[in-house]
Amino acid sequence: MKRIDTFYIHGEWIPPAAGATTMDIVNPATEEVIGKLSLGTAADADRAVAAARAAFPSWSQSSREDRIALLGRIMALYKERLGELAEAVRTEMGAPVGVCNAVQAPVGLAAMNATLEALRTFEFETEHGRNFVRREPIGVAALVTAWNWPLMLIATKVSAAIAAGCTIVLKPSEIAPLDAHLFAQIMHDAGTPAGVFNMIYGEGKSVGARLSSHPEVDVISITGSTRAGVEVAISAAPTVKRVHQELGGKSPLLILDDADIADAVQGGVASIMMNSGQTCIAPTRMLVPRTRYDEAVAVAAATANALRVGDPADPATKLGPISNRAQYEKVQHMIGVGIEEGARVIAGGPGRPEGLDKGFYARPTVLADVNNAMTIAREEIFGPVLVIIPYDAEDDGIEIANDTNYGLAAYIASADRARALRVAARLRAGSVRINGAPVDFSLPFGGYKSSGNGRENGAHGLTEYLEVKSVSM
Ligand code: NAD
Repeated sequence: MKRIDTFYIHGEWIPPAAGATTMDIVNPATEEVIGKLSLGTAADADRAVAAARAAFPSWSQSSREDRIALLGRIMALYKERLGELAEAVRTEMGAPVGVCNAVQAPVGLAAMNATLEALRTFEFETEHGRNFVRREPIGVAALVTAWNWPLMLIATKVSAAIAAGCTIVLKPSEIAPLDAHLFAQIMHDAGTPAGVFNMIYGEGKSVGARLSSHPEVDVISITGSTRAGVEVAISAAPTVKRVHQELGGKSPLLILDDADIADAVQGGVASIMMNSGQTCIAPTRMLVPRTRYDEAVAVAAATANALRVGDPADPATKLGPISNRAQYEKVQHMIGVGIEEGARVIAGGPGRPEGLDKGFYARPTVLADVNNAMTIAREEIFGPVLVIIPYDAEDDGIEIANDTNYGLAAYIASADRARALRVAARLRAGSVRINGAPVDFSLPFGGYKSSGNGRENGAHGLTEYLEVKSVSM
């Protein structure tokens, strides 16, 4: 049984302040309790913020070279421990071993590398005649992360804050504590100066809320649900700190009538089902021209039915369990809502896949005959549930794609590059990917509308942690 009962503050692993509680760490594949995690209180947040504040005067004056060297050491150690990091993610959130080894762990490295490359050439100072504009570290950065791509989220935020010269208090998701623990040890082993990086565990409503309202925190960056992002912004407002939000999504895959339908549908299904649908940018609404609808529905059903759900330790597994019981129950509830609303189940459906009686396993589910007003087309489900919506003319497709409170990502499938670019210009989302283009960590990432404010990755990510100062003479 693993026990995580210390927090990383001012370069040391120390026990929480009085009043901490303990929660079970549950393996979602077996529902077994595999460890115990101490959850801190506002007092722990205060101690971590004080350590970060004390370290700021010195770290904020570090040179570009110092920061490049530290990031290089962190990345080297992260690389050495990739296997352990992947194993931690598999155990705590049930992602299949293949996904953990090939994606969950390495994406953290890719994100840090994008920061490092941006830092090498970032213009911290520009001349304006005889005057200057300087970009300076904003101060203490509180970083709050979700459990679904835990290492990528932590690595993205921490590397950007380090590169900017900020000091950090990280509050990772209480549902995915194991990878964060390893990450903090890597920060320590890399020789991060005491107080520059601190990590505490705790619930959003207590520790997260204290960080967002804390007068000594200068920026709070949260990746999580829109609900949590709104709460953070409200509690941050009286201290006028900067708020950076990476929140939910309900992203469309707009398949145009000239696309290779089979290819586009297969790609779309694979993309949403990856990580059991627990991806903020997953293309959860598939918009298909009515003239090609039956073909698309048949391909989607066949693709989803062929996916193998099972033990995440088995290399043949494509989908592991949902990461926790509450999320599993939400997914089941939403499948039920879809059926009640009149959607047609063409793959999967309620309950666990056959033969899997234990573990939070959901069936890869495709719901057809959906219209964009249905709850299942509007609310983020965050599970392996795809909805297919028919549309008529291209303009209708674009209108449906944009008819959402979210705006994190959008996807287009088309054989015509110029047409796809024209459509991309009309989609209201922070990133548009055409014909299955891969993720590029040097590009800005973030949302329109209720999907958030601000951008992560590369140079855009760095600027979230910088203040702007004019110096004139
Ligand atoms: P969540 O909102 O429950 O929790 C996210 C984090 O916020 C956790 O660390 C949690 O403890 C903390 N938190 C919750 N309430 C808080 C509050 N009132 N004040 C401060 N902190 C609070 O989300 P989750 O279930 O961990 O993750 C899933 C959600 O995250 C989905 O909505 C998904 O779309 C979103 N997400 C977004 C991105 C993105 O980059 N836009 C990436 C990954 C996940």
